[in-house]
Amino acid sequence: MARISARIGAIKESATLAVDARAKALRAAGEDIVGFGAGEPDFPTPAHIVEAAAVACRDPKAHHYSPTPGLPELREAIAAATARHSQVECAASGVVVTNGGKHAVYQSFQVLLDPGDEVLLPAPYWTSYPETIVLAGGVPVELPTTEATGFRVTVDQLDAAVTPRTKVLLFVSPSNPTGAVYPPDEVEAIGRWAADRGLWVVTDEIYEHLTFGTHEFSSMPGLVPELADRCVIVNGVAKTYAMTGWRVGWMVAPPDVVGAAGNLQSHSTSNVSNVAQYAALAAVTGDLDAVGEMRAVYERRGARMHELLAAIPGVECLEPQGAFYCFPSLQSFLGRPLGRHQPATTVELCAALLDEAKVALVPGEAFGAPGYARLTFALADDQLEEGCRRLAVALAG
Ligand code: PMP
Repeated sequence: MARISARIGAIKESATLAVDARAKALRAAGEDIVGFGAGEPDFPTPAHIVEAAAVACRDPKAHHYSPTPGLPELREAIAAATARHSQVECAASGVVVTNGGKHAVYQSFQVLLDPGDEVLLPAPYWTSYPETIVLAGGVPVELPTTEATGFRVTVDQLDAAVTPRTKVLLFVSPSNPTGAVYPPDEVEAIGRWAADRGLWVVTDEIYEHLTFGTHEFSSMPGLVPELADRCVIVNGVAKTYAMTGWRVGWMVAPPDVVGAAGNLQSHSTSNVSNVAQYAALAAVTGDLDAVGEMRAVYERRGARMHELLAAIPGVECLEPQGAFYCFPSLQSFLGRPLGRHQPATTVELCAALLDEAKVALVPGEAFGAPGYARLTFALADDQLEEGCRRLAVALAG
């Protein structure tokens, strides 16, 4: 009998976390590495949020089990924030507080999918979507997109991929890894299409506040209210408030999904840490001043990274519209010598760049998009400049 179950043995390591771990290990060994791998803000959590957690730590009411689906005041605040930012009316009872947005994605698929149910998954996709779909017994049906369509899927493409087994459409905008933001008319058209087809939508709104220039976030269930009964919104505090380590996310969903997710969570993780929930309460009920400042910094860095990457001969890169990633095509460097290497894939190219240029990027293979790589611009300006300089030198051959 196998030591590890087939179900769990089939899960791949998170490629993004693996790149980050390798970069950190090399740095710990004294190497001067520029890490473009991790998808997390480099800012500390705003002080008023940290203070709320410190207060909660000292209050015995935070020291014991609390309701599995979340502290009542936090569920209330999340419902109000969802109405404010997504134009989706929901009651506090429609919210489940989870251990980060990742846990909300995991629980959504566990609750919705039976074995063989298909999920339409536009690619490039965030690396945890297919794994959590498969873990729930579902089948990811990838819909490839390229820079030619701004990495946005079309209704025609979706329509061509539907089968009698299709249950869910996964939608995310702003997108990790592409930085693409769908304009409102496209969000609405896709939402109406899903509603007409009777499909469920799992929509990941975790980057809602991180959009640049004229690009703005639009919520699919906000624009298409008839989706309400078959829609799960996934969100969290990680990206907006620089709170990746606090592990607070949530699902906003119809009552039967909330009930089922609550039952699942009651046998796995129970309530999210109360201290982290009080911190999230301060974040969600507070103003967006600190968020606005961080967003402006990301926008400036994104434009700068795009400028530096696009200036490297052979690199094709769209200007990021949201989130904090550039997703250049590096196809023209495959099959060519790079220092002591001759990479044939972007996995090999990224390994060569780490070796030759001491720069860590995540290969597109991790996102269902070989030929590309993801670079985060949520890092200090001098690191961004130095990392792009090294890339330019290494890629010049
Ligand atoms: N969705 C997307 C698209 C993400 O990029 C991430 C983080 N990389 C998450 C969800 C999950 O974030 P967390 O679990 O840290 O809240």
